[in-house]
Amino acid sequence: MNEPVVELREVRKEYPGEVTALDGVTLRVEAGEAAAIVGPSGSGKSTLLHLIGTLDRPSAGTVRIEGRDVSTMSDRRLSALRARRIGFVFQQFHLAAGVSALDNVADGLLYAGVPLADRRRRARLALERVGLAHRLGHRPHQLSGGEKQRVAIARAVVGEPALLLADEPTGALDTGTGAGVMDLLRELAAGGTTVIVITHDRDIAATLPRQIRMRDGRVVADDVRVEAAP
Ligand code: ADP
Repeated sequence: MNEPVVELREVRKEYPGEVTALDGVTLRVEAGEAAAIVGPSGSGKSTLLHLIGTLDRPSAGTVRIEGRDVSTMSDRRLSALRARRIGFVFQQFHLAAGVSALDNVADGLLYAGVPLADRRRRARLALERVGLAHRLGHRPHQLSGGEKQRVAIARAVVGEPALLLADEPTGALDTGTGAGVMDLLRELAAGGTTVIVITHDRDIAATLPRQIRMRDGRVVADDVRVEAAP
């Protein structure tokens, strides 16, 4: 059971036009880790996140999620893996307009064929977990940016994925609100969810215990902060 949640070996990704977006990336992320992938624009962060999220396949090398080699899986099995084991959070929240926070989160369970009452019950618990028990009936336009991102995070974790992938989750938030969102992501990792955040912002990256630094499609540094014993 000590399988890493994410394991990449010598991963390359080439795009048409001779663009090498990833140039031999080897990486392991263990259960319950909270890691930032940090680097300047064009360094390959989004490409790496897409491959880890099984939204795309490598040109060479292997990507394993919980031990499963994604290159050997059919598109159907891959989307099932993605729906059940991976949650996504984006800079622009991507909530459904005019739909309550509760139902935005409940919709995160649609794939699983869970009955509506049960989806709503679990959505309520997820919203409590992100500190929004008092906002269940609010629609996105009635929520602050930080609250919207918390709803999006609740939606991403309501199905209890092993892995939460966040693409610049604080990019649309002011510094203080963004810090609160990073606190929440760290708490989720402490609860056992593996969290990977991509960011170009070194200060945001520094709030997580591990920073994987990218440049020109390669990992150029991988720093783990050793926490002082309590
Ligand atoms: P980052 O997220 O760090 O900004 P990306 O992963 O988006 O970096 O991009 C890495 C490199 O790959 C860049 O040179 C970018 O222009 C190129 N790239 C990304 N996506 C595509 C694509 N779909 N087609 C061609 N080139 C791409």
